Amino acid sequence: MRARGPRLLVSTSLLAAVLAVAPAAAESPIALVIHGGAGTIERADLDAETEAAYRRDLTTALEAGHAVLARGGSSLDAVETAIRLLEDSPLFNAGKGSVFTAEGHNELDASIMDGATREAGAVAGVSTLKNPISAARAVMERSPHVLLAGEGAERFARAAGLEEVEPEYFHTERRWRALEKAREKNEIERPPVDTDGDAAGASPSYLGTVGAVALDRAGRLAAGTSTGGMTFKRHGRVGDSPIVGAGTWADSRCGVSSTGHGEYFIRYAVAHDVCARVRYLDLSIEEAAHQVVVDELAAAGGAGGVIALDHRGRPALVMNTAGMYRGYVGSDGQPQVSIFRDED
Ligand code: ASP
Repeated sequence: MRARGPRLLVSTSLLAAVLAVAPAAAESPIALVIHGGAGTIERADLDAETEAAYRRDLTTALEAGHAVLARGGSSLDAVETAIRLLEDSPLFNAGKGSVFTAEGHNELDASIMDGATREAGAVAGVSTLKNPISAARAVMERSPHVLLAGEGAERFARAAGLEEVEPEYFHTERRWRALEKAREKNEIERPPVDTDGDAAGASPSYLGTVGAVALDRAGRLAAGTSTGGMTFKRHGRVGDSPIVGAGTWADSRCGVSSTGHGEYFIRYAVAHDVCARVRYLDLSIEEAAHQVVVDELAAAGGAGGVIALDHRGRPALVMNTAGMYRGYVGSDGQPQVSIFRDED
């Protein structure tokens, strides 16, 4: 009996300690960053109505992704949810609004990666899948492979029950006009690097690759990217977006989605390089992204940007171009959307 008092005391204080910790555990951070492409986005080129439409669709994607995370859903689900919405918007160069190849077709690329398991899935050069990001996820979860291309990827997605569309679904007037312009010039439109705001205004017609990185309540990071590629690209050209380590990367401390001139992002292994600097040099996510995108990539002539999150939900949204459609939402659920580089 005598021992009971102190024991009860101990367990009461234990209980108090557990209760004190419990709310903190429930408050582990959630975060989501998204992008809708980087390049020459000048205020003068964007009329008020179009700008409002971009901001609306980015906000919708942030809110939907945040809702998944807020109810305890996984970072993978949040990434897929946000990207599907951006793919369905005609404004972005992914899914519905994809750009055309030189031959006048649409060939879409996408990838997704789970930072907790290092599992990844991707599709390249698909023309009949409404939401390539879901096909990428199916490759990750329902096949022994990481990357499926072309008809093989489409056949796999069909068997997995994913939605198919006629190729005409991807036809938008705006992207077709961009192809006609590129055909006149007979060249791929390359976005200019613009770190100090003095690049001549190339038209932003190819812009709009989409991506997302999320951190869920369990502390798991995931990242994904989806694109139509670059206007006037060759049939069969695959950019960085479906390449794990270039367009998309996630590990236990860091997740990245890239957008920009894909050939550079592949050769500089951009998404992985950002996270390698966090892992090996212990840099902040912001510093790592800045070194890769603004110092190295810009010097090499590779235009574009990245969005990134670390394992505490700290974001980095970094570009070496005049603008990047982008957004962030943290635990408070307040979406923040920006377009021009000088906006934050
Ligand atoms: N990175 C994409 C590609 O090269 C294009 C983009 O992000 O704008 O296919």
